[in-house]
Amino acid sequence: MSDVVDRFVRYCEVASQSDPLNAAEVPSTKSQFDIARVIADDLTELGAADVELDDHAYVTAHWPASAGCEDLPCLGFCCHIDTAWQAKGDEVHPRIVHYEGGPLVMGTVDGHEVSCDPTTNPELDGLAGGDIVTTDGTSLLGGDDKAGDAEVMSLLARLKADPSIPHPPLALSFVPDEEIGHGAALLDLDRWGATWGYTLDNPGMAEFSYECFNAAEAKVRATGLSVHTGNAKGIMINASEAVMRFHQLIPAQEKPEYTEGYDGFYYVERIEGNCEEALADYIIRDHDSDRFAARKRLMENACAYVNELFGTEVLTIEISDQYRNMADVISDHMHLVDNARTAFGDHGYDMRIVPMRGGTDGAQLCFRGLPCPNLPAGYHNAHGPKEFVPVRELEDMVDVLQTLVGLYAKPQDDTQTDHQE
Ligand SMILES: [Zn+2]
Repeated sequence: MSDVVDRFVRYCEVASQSDPLNAAEVPSTKSQFDIARVIADDLTELGAADVELDDHAYVTAHWPASAGCEDLPCLGFCCHIDTAWQAKGDEVHPRIVHYEGGPLVMGTVDGHEVSCDPTTNPELDGLAGGDIVTTDGTSLLGGDDKAGDAEVMSLLARLKADPSIPHPPLALSFVPDEEIGHGAALLDLDRWGATWGYTLDNPGMAEFSYECFNAAEAKVRATGLSVHTGNAKGIMINASEAVMRFHQLIPAQEKPEYTEGYDGFYYVERIEGNCEEALADYIIRDHDSDRFAARKRLMENACAYVNELFGTEVLTIEISDQYRNMADVISDHMHLVDNARTAFGDHGYDMRIVPMRGGTDGAQLCFRGLPCPNLPAGYHNAHGPKEFVPVRELEDMVDVLQTLVGLYAKPQDDTQTDHQE
């Protein structure tokens, strides 16, 4: 077994789901400390500097530059240590299977075969003849994001084995609770010290993202007036009616289930109510910042319209930004895109740029001033028992990372660093 596969299987075996119902605590689950400890120990064993596991299960470390590269900007790599909560994942039994085409069988659960095949996963066609890490059918695998964790650690093992490999100083972080939207929020960027970096958290291979949504949440609250239905004429104000009226003003086709690519949307997460009180929680998403602003205005206008219709302030709306499209930040540091493309190209992969229809740790880090696009980690069918990670992609990603750190072993053509000079 190669180093990266050995690490990957070991990390998957340490179950570490996050829990949205305990999101107020970081980490949201104690099990995330288990994987954090394994990674911190591995970092120490590899000889990383400043290895730290903090009270929130953040693992950080540094890796000194190769000779002659000490003064170059520090390159960061950020992965998450939690796995998805949407599927069973409290016990994980990874298997390595040799794949010869046709259905890829994970296992049999309650007499039913858990498998996928090239009709649902066309990428399997290119994987025949190789080994694939799968689940046993009973749980998710956790390749999201333990593939990323293992690839970064395996890169360090290589740098240790061959100190002549050129690379700038590296900053490493392994963060909890990404799957519940927390991720790198508590990462102390000044101490971490990266000038720019990458997350490794895209599915598949050679899928690269530096564009994501602009994101906000909107909380609509209604206060009504309840009276006996027999005597209600002209007096009752039904809070639920107000919320439903509001919802009818949201464009019917601009919902997640009707949109793709660069389409934005409104998504109602929750509606509840009675006559006295009602509420609706929405999220608003759009890649384009003007259209994003227009969506927020539409919701405010809809709220004002309903209040006018009811002749009273029955509705209030509170809109707050969650993250912004990282393209606005990355466009000043296009070497992050170009170098990634070169690194994939050198290993036979045509890098595809895909707009993310979600956010990442990278989006949050960009929002806080650290340019950080998202590299693939090589996982497929994440968040469920049909998840798999091809051995070849794990190994190729380590090669890609080695080439990438090599490209950062020289000064970059960077708009912002130029401006500062
Ligand atoms: Zn992930």
